[in-house]
Amino acid sequence: MSMAAPKARKHLSADALFHVVRSGFATIPDPRGEEVDITLTDALMSAFAMFSLKAPSLLAFDKERAEGNLHTIYGIERVPCDTYMREILDPLSPKWLRPLFKSVFRPLQRGKALEPMTFLDGHYLLALDGTEYFSSKTIHCASCLHRVHRNGSITYAHQMLGAAIIHPDQRTVIPLMPEPIVNCDGTDKNDCERNAAKRFVAKLRQDHPHLKFIVTEDSLSSNAPHIETLHVQGLHYILGVKEGDHPYLFQQVQAAEHAGRVTAYDRHDRAAGLVHRFRFLNDVPLNASHTDVRVNFIEYWEIGEAKVQHFSWVTDLRVSKRNVYHLMRGGRARWKIENETFNTLKNQGYNFEHNYGHGEQHLSVVFAMLMMLAFLVDQAQQLCCALFQAVWAKLGSKRLLWERMRALFYDYALASMRQLFETLLYGFKKSSPIIAVDSS
Ligand SMILES: [Zn+2]
Repeated sequence: MSMAAPKARKHLSADALFHVVRSGFATIPDPRGEEVDITLTDALMSAFAMFSLKAPSLLAFDKERAEGNLHTIYGIERVPCDTYMREILDPLSPKWLRPLFKSVFRPLQRGKALEPMTFLDGHYLLALDGTEYFSSKTIHCASCLHRVHRNGSITYAHQMLGAAIIHPDQRTVIPLMPEPIVNCDGTDKNDCERNAAKRFVAKLRQDHPHLKFIVTEDSLSSNAPHIETLHVQGLHYILGVKEGDHPYLFQQVQAAEHAGRVTAYDRHDRAAGLVHRFRFLNDVPLNASHTDVRVNFIEYWEIGEAKVQHFSWVTDLRVSKRNVYHLMRGGRARWKIENETFNTLKNQGYNFEHNYGHGEQHLSVVFAMLMMLAFLVDQAQQLCCALFQAVWAKLGSKRLLWERMRALFYDYALASMRQLFETLLYGFKKSSPIIAVDSS
């Protein structure tokens, strides 16, 4: 009985996207000049391969070598040793990696792979959130944020504003280039999430001038200056609000309720034993000091038999009984940036918080961006590669998938990622073992 391989979209296969990534790296100018023994492209591609294979550390990656497959599958000519890789990548400004995210995004868009990710009238839901991925009392670099404690000691940290296209019905998220939150000039001047968000949305518009987005964020973001920034960049929003942080807004809603201007709406989900209860009001001032910034307000209770969950949001989208349930799902999907993005990177084999090497200038940030890029390529596979999906379903967990993938990669000569996934799905008969492995 012959088994037909799951159909794959060729331009969106891991092999095709690795090629896109490698070509993108090749356009980045090498800060060392032209006379080099190992190219910047090879150093970048080696670091990318390390994250793509989820090697637990730079040393572990260096030890395995597997240069044959690194050459065949990732197109690397010469793999630098761990120390040399850090040396080459440390001076590289992370901004050079921005076009790479776009190069991987473009074929996804062109291949219509992002269609299932559209949320409302051709808009994507874009979740933004800050996260810290490194902190230390001893290791630090020029980009580190400084936290000075009362006793004079300093904690050094790295944070980023992460961004991902999410959808309430999709497990896959599509990350965009994060905005690093870094020390501005190597002194004690700290950057912050709010500034990073401002830079992020400006660059988002440069990268994707025509894409339609609804930005979703937590209640820290629902302040007038940020809402104005979103408005200027032509971005819609669904932002969390809290009564404690927005007392004026909630008072206005209360007053409107007494005046009979608030709409109440219940939706029963008998199968799930839930009542979705809403009250909403359009066109209210966000706060007393910015009464010109007007928002639409949604409050929501999910009432189950044992517990009640409560959320509230502001949005610039006009709220009606027709769309309030959908908008609520968009607001609630925000947790995917934490769960499906940051937690996946931290706990599902990517070792986001592991220190692969810190460097003195940019290394720590460059590694974080490359890890996100590898995650983007993986998410593209998860979204549109039937072969990847079949292997994932067979093995049951990402952790096991990465483990099996590494084992094959390190021990067998493979022609492509496709062959690797096919071998994971159908068994070893299609691959040929390496006779002698030189591990010196
Ligand atoms: Zn640092």
